[in-house]
Amino acid sequence: MKKTKTPGFETRMIHAGTQPEPVTGARQTPIFQNTSYVFHDADHAASLFNLQTFGFIYSRLTNPTVAALEERLASLEGGRGATCCASGHAAQILAFFAIMAPGDRFVASNRLYGGSITQFGKTFKKFDWQVDFVDVDNPENVRKAIGPKTKAIFVESLANPGGVVSDLEALSAIAQAAEIPLIVDNTMATPYLCRPFEWGADLVVHSTTKFLSGNGTSVGGAVVDSGRFDWAKSGKFPGLAEPEPAYHGLSFYETFGDMAFTMQAHAVGLRDLGATMAPMNAFQTLLGTETLSLRMERHCANAKTVAEFLENHEAVDWVSCAALPASPYHDLGLKYLPLGAGSVFTFGVKGGYEAGVKVVESCELFSHLANIGDSRSLILHPASTTHRQLTEEQREAAGAGPAVVRLSIGLETVEDLIDDLGKALAATV
Ligand SMILES: *Cc1c(COP(=O)(O)O)cnc(C)c1O
Repeated sequence: MKKTKTPGFETRMIHAGTQPEPVTGARQTPIFQNTSYVFHDADHAASLFNLQTFGFIYSRLTNPTVAALEERLASLEGGRGATCCASGHAAQILAFFAIMAPGDRFVASNRLYGGSITQFGKTFKKFDWQVDFVDVDNPENVRKAIGPKTKAIFVESLANPGGVVSDLEALSAIAQAAEIPLIVDNTMATPYLCRPFEWGADLVVHSTTKFLSGNGTSVGGAVVDSGRFDWAKSGKFPGLAEPEPAYHGLSFYETFGDMAFTMQAHAVGLRDLGATMAPMNAFQTLLGTETLSLRMERHCANAKTVAEFLENHEAVDWVSCAALPASPYHDLGLKYLPLGAGSVFTFGVKGGYEAGVKVVESCELFSHLANIGDSRSLILHPASTTHRQLTEEQREAAGAGPAVVRLSIGLETVEDLIDDLGKALAATV
């Protein structure tokens, strides 16, 4: 048989996971706003419940609209399967739920999104999942932090909020040597700018709330599996490789091979944790992915122009944006994000905490809110909002000190954005 060429990224953004609906011919993916699906007969029901037949049972586990998004995200990341769920934070719980047991540890970057630092450092402790935060700029720190109970390494490809780029190739070599998966949060980069699997990552997690949905309409998350990790080899991952009592002793890895993680995340993770994505949110996110490349190009171009403006502004101390040649992450950015360094970055305003608050409150076009990756431009003062729960030390480590202002540059006319920021900065001097 003739081997067909894999369609390009933009083609997959629009077509992967979807086809005309077979009954009506509806071309856009319908919102299957229903909870449950009729069984053909008792045998069919039994084989569905035994995971012997693929099909729909109940929308906490699977739903056709959500499944279309899962297939699309797996395709865009170049992975084997994906599991969508209620939020980015739910995706992180699902990813770790499959691989951790009480008492296990993982190593994570100390420059993660503030909410992830709190989730890992505080709430995960209630499951007795322990995290070791390290500065991953020197990958040796990661290697040194790995012990016998360490089950994963977790980083962001492009870290929120400081424009920090992780050296995925070096980190994946360390993960491989330790026989543990490298998990990469690819929220800020999106698969258009960076595909962590191409650099050796094993699992990718997303907050689809951000650029993937793109309009600030829908909270959601996803875990994408490369399908390449050997869950049996080291004996460290009984949840995937050992017999599962709730499914008559079935081993996910033995039965489903490269789909083991994705099957487990649905059949156990979603079934028992219940953090399901709503069909309407999956639909909105499917619409978002159709224009992902176009939006990311404009997001990146606008962000670079705004960063250059700020870099030369007298009221600004510094700008932390990997798109700027002055950034210590510029070279890593060229390697891992050749099409652009995203549109979320920070700058330090002269005058500290007060001035930071003043800039945020003086903007008119920028919206003051706690989100990123919207078509609208957004502004935030992390020290008084998202990073408020952290200690001063953690805030500094996360690049969210008192003078730091975070921007998520949208798709507006860039001159209007510069105008708005210029006026707000003038109010601080
Ligand atoms: C927003 C965000 C999350 C959390 O996602 P939610 O959808 O808000 O739960 C995780 N990681 C990063 C990088 C984020 O920006």
